[in-house]
Parts: sequence; structure tokens; C-alpha cells
Amino acid sequence: MFKEKTNSKRTIISEGEQSSKKVISGSLWEYSPSPESSDHIKLKDRYDLFINGRFVKAKEYFDTINPSNEEKIAEVAYASENDVDKAVRAAERAYNKVWSRLHPKERAKVIFRIARIMQEKAREFAVIESLDGGKPVKESKSLDVPLSIAHFFYHAGWADKLHYAFPGTKPRSIGVVGQIIPWNFPLLMAAWKIAPALACGNTVVIKSAETTPLTLYKLAEVIQEADLPPGVVNIISGDGRTGSAIVNHPRIRKIAFTGSTEVGKIIMKAVSGSDKKLTLELGGKAANIIFEDAPIDQAVEGIINGIYFNQGHVCCAGSRLFVQESVRNIVIRKLKQRINTLRVGDPLDKNTDIGAINSKEQLNKIKTLVKTGIGEGCTYYEKKCELPEKGYWFRPSFFTNVAQSNTIAQEEIFGPVLAVLTFRTPKEAIEKANNTPYGLSAGIWTDKGSKIFKMIAGMKAGVVWSNTYNRFNPASPFGGYKESGFGREGGIHGLREYLII
Ligand code: NAP
Ligand code: MG
Repeated sequence: MFKEKTNSKRTIISEGEQSSKKVISGSLWEYSPSPESSDHIKLKDRYDLFINGRFVKAKEYFDTINPSNEEKIAEVAYASENDVDKAVRAAERAYNKVWSRLHPKERAKVIFRIARIMQEKAREFAVIESLDGGKPVKESKSLDVPLSIAHFFYHAGWADKLHYAFPGTKPRSIGVVGQIIPWNFPLLMAAWKIAPALACGNTVVIKSAETTPLTLYKLAEVIQEADLPPGVVNIISGDGRTGSAIVNHPRIRKIAFTGSTEVGKIIMKAVSGSDKKLTLELGGKAANIIFEDAPIDQAVEGIINGIYFNQGHVCCAGSRLFVQESVRNIVIRKLKQRINTLRVGDPLDKNTDIGAINSKEQLNKIKTLVKTGIGEGCTYYEKKCELPEKGYWFRPSFFTNVAQSNTIAQEEIFGPVLAVLTFRTPKEAIEKANNTPYGLSAGIWTDKGSKIFKMIAGMKAGVVWSNTYNRFNPASPFGGYKESGFGREGGIHGLREYLII
């Protein structure tokens, strides 16, 4: 029996009182709301296109909303085919007249300046990312923004050392690069794409995803402040048609796309027969594999981080858990306990673990797949908690009694829903892990180093984490096998994609 004690930060509630208080079931600890301050945020009512170093009006605008309360945040310019053409021409002029001629050291200085100014505005970036996309502010503050900045710093370092990266060669820039990104990590995906393109001497036209344009326009303000020559980076917003206009523009020399496998296939067809370079970072259905000799508590944290981080809106999410049969029951028991301590709610509350689902469309997709899983006879378990009335929400959940052929074990859910499967031997784990059209990432949890190496050698995944999950570093290449795409982002491998060698 516990006694209630309170201090400014937390309340301990006696067991008997739990039902009368709004506590997270299964957890004895509840925190008072701790909202991130948004007084320092400067948002405009309307965002114009960023072309040739200036904000220019478009003919049409659309609303971007806050998915946690469905309120409109701002109006955003819709880039037509004509606007895409203006942006590409500005990028081409900037490439020919300035950027490709600039001494690499000077390029490095501007990229470095962008990183420094982003650091000064880090909190602003974090709050806007959470407002526009629904992700918990503790994640945008600790991962999205610092990692985005790190990408600019890292690539600033490479700009004048490309010949060291590829000894014995004379690497050349490509020209105008068209970049299209998704909504799950807007600023980070922009940094992954813009920073290496600039370091290698290319110029850029980048399109944000329809639901998350705001941090890219904040980045446009930083780019202006950093005195990047006009036209070197052009930032636009729109929908699939805008993306298609970029893909099909004849003066673009390379397309870098991150998004769904479905759209990736359309893009691949569109550029075939042209001499455009192409990199595709697509979907995933990663296996997170737990052996009986793994440190179980750490592994359970790894599962949680693997699938519930960013509401499961993560291409490399550990969405299939393979657990060795002998430890299945203990892992499931701990998993249930742990998801009941996750806090679902206001993305701007610093205590929130699971924020809002990015859009109504994505929420419906998750709900449909969960219904299918239940319909196919899998056992469903979800966290017990109330959800806010407005906004798009989904409780962290998992399925057991899953067969490899079940839809939820095959299709990317892109939400906080885990499919739990079992295995007996390492060979079986490898076979099951590879039994997917995707091959982006995987996780292995074991005490034995030799087992890690054996598993890595057998797995068709671009990234394999061992005894950890969802760790990123600008120096480390990221990318997929099979239908998860081709090409790498980050590290020397990523630089190569923006050069003619
Ligand atoms: P999506 O529908 O493929 O959209 C991605 C981007 O492409 C958006 O900017 C979208 O614009 C644009 N687009 C849509 N149709 C297009 C077309 N026909 N031609 C050119 N561009 C087009 O993907 P999403 O739903 O935003 O993102 C989720 C998917 O991305 C998941 O499958 C996830 O696994 C994948 N992803 C992969 C990685 C990776 O690194 N491998 C990283 C993050 C996400 P609108 O938003 O305006 O429609
Ligand atoms: Mg939004």
C-alpha cells in the first residue's frame, strides 16, 4: 500500500485511489503537465515559396494544421508546374554562375553558418516541428533538430575535402538536384538531402510533404540569414503533382526521393530513359530480433524505442518483433507493463512519449490495418488510456499470435503497432526476418558478439543495430535493399550520390 505524496513535479497515488484519478493505468507515477513554452515562436499566417533567395507568392495556398487539435496553423503556398520551373531555373542560374565556381572552402563556410544559425534557433525549430507534425517535443528537441544540425556541420567539413573522400579521382558536382521528402522527419530529411548536395557543389529544389511544410520554411529563413547565394536552395510546398513536376523537369540532373515504395516506383518509371541520377529511400518492415541470452529489460526498451518512437512513423521502425520462444512470455509481460507507462497526449508537453498521428489519412490507414489483423485472427493488445477528443490519436499496441503470412506482418503500418512473432534458431530468425519485400533495417539483441556477426551476414537490411535501436549519425550511411530503395544517405557513401566520379 502506497501513501500519496506530492511535490511540484509528481504525485504518488495509493493503489486504491488509482481508479478515481486520471493516472496512466499500470503506472504509479503521474506528472503535472509541463508544456514547452511557445512564446519564442515566430510563425507567419501565410508562407510563400522560397525561390531565388526570396519569398514569392503563389496562385494558390492550402492550410497546414496541427494534428493534435485539428486547428489551422498557417496557409502555405501551393507550387504549380510553373513555380517548379521558376525554382529549377533559379537553381540552374545559381549553379552555373555562382555555386559550382565558388571555392569549396567558401561553400563550407556558408554550410557551417547555416548549422550555427540553426543552433541558435533550435528550440524554435523543435516546437514548430511538433506543432505541425504531432511528434513529442522531447523527440524533436533531442533528435530531429540536433541531428539535422549535425548533418550540416558534418557536410560543411567535407566540402573542401572531397578528393580525400575519393582518392585518385576528381569528383565533380552534378548540377540541379530535385529533392522530395516525407512528413515523418521533415527538417531531418531536408538536412539529409540539402547538406550533402551543397557540400558537393550542387544546387537544390526541395519539396516538403503536404502536411509538414513549416520547418522547411523556417530553414529558408535561416538560409537567407546565412547569405547563401540566391537560388542555391529553393524550397517549395505542394502535393504529389508538385513532386511529379520536379521529377519530370528536364533540367534537373538528379532526383533524391524519400517516401513510400508506391511513389518510388512511379518515380523510377518516370526517370527511366533519361540520364537523371536517382536515389530512393522507401518503406520498411524491420525485424527486431531478441535472443534468450539478451539483457531482457534493455531489449524491451529497444522494442519500445524501435516501434513507438515518433508514433511509429519511422521507415526503419522495428515493426516486427521476433522473440526466441523460450523468452516469449517474459518479453510479452514486460512489454505490456511498459506500454502502459507510455504517456499519450499533447506533443508540446515535455512528458509526452506518444504524440498525435500525423494526419487523418494516416490514422485511417493504421485503423484499417489493425482491423485486418484482428479479422485475420491475431490477438490485439493496446494500452489502456483515454485519448483527447480532438486530433488524431492511436494507442500504442501490439499483436501476438501472428503468422508470417498475416497482413500486419507483411505491410508497413507506419503507426505505433507492433507484430510479435517467435523463432527457435538463429537460422530460422534470419529466414523470417528476410521474408519481406523490404530490407531497410533490423535489430539484434544478444549477449554473444559472434551471434551478432553471424546474423548480420545473413540479413538483407541496409542498417542492422545490435543491442540498440534507432541510432543515427551523419557519418554513418543509411539506405535499403530490395523494395526499400537504393542509394545511401550519410557518410562517404552518401556523398558519392551527389557527385560524378
Ligand atoms: P509518399 O506518399 O510517398 O510521399 C512522399 C513525398 O512524395 C511527399 O512529399 C509527397 O507529396 C510526394 N509525392 C506524392 N506523390 C508523388 C508523385 N507522384 N511524384 C512525386 N512526388 C510525389 O510517402 P509518405 O506517406 O509521405 O511517407 C511515408 C512513407 O515514406 C513510408 O512508406 C515510409 O517508410 C517512407 N519513408 C522512408 C524513409 C527512408 O529513409 N527509407 C524515411 C521516411 C519515410 P505530398 O506529401 O504533398 O503528397
Ligand atoms: Mg501540419
